Amino acid sequence: MSASDCAPRSARDVARYDLEADVVVVGLGMAGACAALEAQAAGADVLVLERASGGGGTSANSGGLIYLGGGTPVQKACGFEDTPEEMFRFLLAASQPGAREEKIRLFCEGSVEHFHWLEAQGVPFKRSFHPEPGMESPTDDCLVYSGGEDCHPWSALARPAPRGHKPQTEGKAGPYLMQRVLDTVARRGLRVRGDTRVGRLVQDPADGRVVGVVGRSAGEALLVRARRGVVLCAGGFVMNDAMLFRHAPILARCSMRAGTDGDDGRGIRMGQAAGGDVVRMGQGEVALPTTIPNRLSRGIFVNRQGQRFINEDTYYGHIGIESLFRQQGRVYLLLDEATYERGLLGLQATWVAESVAELEAESGLPRGALEATLSFYNRHAAQGEDPLFHKRRERVQPLERPPFALIDSGTHAAIYATFTLGGLETGAAGEVLGPDGVAVPGLYAAGRTAALFCGSGYPGSGSSLADASFFGRRAGRAAAANA
Ligand SMILES: Cc1cc2nc3c(=O)[nH]c(=O)nc-3n(C[C@H](O)[C@H](O)[C@H](O)COP(=O)(O)OP(=O)(O)OC[C@H]3O[C@@H](n4cnc5c(N)ncnc54)[C@H](O)[C@@H]3O)c2cc1C
Repeated sequence: MSASDCAPRSARDVARYDLEADVVVVGLGMAGACAALEAQAAGADVLVLERASGGGGTSANSGGLIYLGGGTPVQKACGFEDTPEEMFRFLLAASQPGAREEKIRLFCEGSVEHFHWLEAQGVPFKRSFHPEPGMESPTDDCLVYSGGEDCHPWSALARPAPRGHKPQTEGKAGPYLMQRVLDTVARRGLRVRGDTRVGRLVQDPADGRVVGVVGRSAGEALLVRARRGVVLCAGGFVMNDAMLFRHAPILARCSMRAGTDGDDGRGIRMGQAAGGDVVRMGQGEVALPTTIPNRLSRGIFVNRQGQRFINEDTYYGHIGIESLFRQQGRVYLLLDEATYERGLLGLQATWVAESVAELEAESGLPRGALEATLSFYNRHAAQGEDPLFHKRRERVQPLERPPFALIDSGTHAAIYATFTLGGLETGAAGEVLGPDGVAVPGLYAAGRTAALFCGSGYPGSGSSLADASFFGRRAGRAAAANA
């Protein structure tokens, strides 16, 4: 895909359009469906163009967890007190550096309304709590701590509350979530054209306004006029090798790319070619699920120097980002006989030995380094304390009963699942902004085609679908209002 591939077509060269709508939405994943529903509710005639035969995208392959809070009915029913202010404090702190205050504020203040909106679209949430943190429950239970809110350092900065909301279904909820949303799209009579891949925008050279798109459908070019605006909801770029190596080479070391073919960066490139800026392109969600089940967090993570670098009880996404970006993806989880168990997908010990010195020799860690780390850790753990990283007391336990086990949790050995978080820079209404901060007229973006709403990092599991749905709705409304 070269730059010219995505260059917009001049509106002057278009003699006639094949189709017309007020708002044209590109892509029917979570962001596109929410944008389309809201644009229609705002009175616009909407057309959705989707490259696959049907909607769903990566959203339909996901865990379906959605980050919501500020006092949702599920939080209340489960006895958790939360307010938009506490949620704001957490998201602000967890999104530094570069936290986007305005968007975080909007999201926190609108989160309860968004919950009700999702239920009104047919997405049910059971009023129940699942105590195992990190990821969606295997049952139909809803609420989980999905961002380490009750762990160091966040628990001291904001009152902890679980905010990961899983739609009410057993197992992975992404397919069910998207089925319910797509059913609503169909019930509302929205026009959806599948097998239509959008390749370029149409732009008026006089004022830079985006006035349509060029697609391909059944081998034929398709010109579509957008009277009010185009909303790009075409996913991220984790499946595009060239873009990944250019913008986020370290993510290419992850063993699992969490995406579908549509995440080829085309939406981002089309927006760029029309004058949109891109931001935080080097960032990604990096899940290292070595501490699932969370009881394994009673072990300790060490780096190549045999030193700890994080509190092991936090969200595995924080551990993944720390391990990949700051420890170069070379980390190990140390357990003893009392703490060892098989992890997610039957994850097993790489080395087992009667002494830590033997483990050092077998794994190639510097002699004495792991012993020193463990001796310091055990001394304080005997008192239930972790003065270095403040792991919660109930997870702190001396590791002293042989045999000892070391799980190689490096990028070459463990699951590192990643998707991209950078994309088009958007304002609070989803308008695509140029490098000068001025909106490209008629152009909107949401979901992974836009940069994640909160700033750096990935505050908690569920943040991407929350962003895609909440800001997708805003983009749809803004495009509909752009008469
Ligand atoms: C295994 C897995 C688990 C995950 N779990 C979670 C989770 O629990 N919670 C969470 O928040 N996030 C999760 N994620 C991430 C999340 O699924 C995505 O970030 C999110 O779904 C992105 O939504 P979207 O609407 O931007 O993109 P998508 O859902 O991918 O929708 C984009 C749509 O655009 C279409 N499209 C692409 N290009 C074009 C084009 N040129 N023309 C026309 N159509 C086009 C695609 O076919 C697709 O249908 C997970 C991801 C994976 C893979």
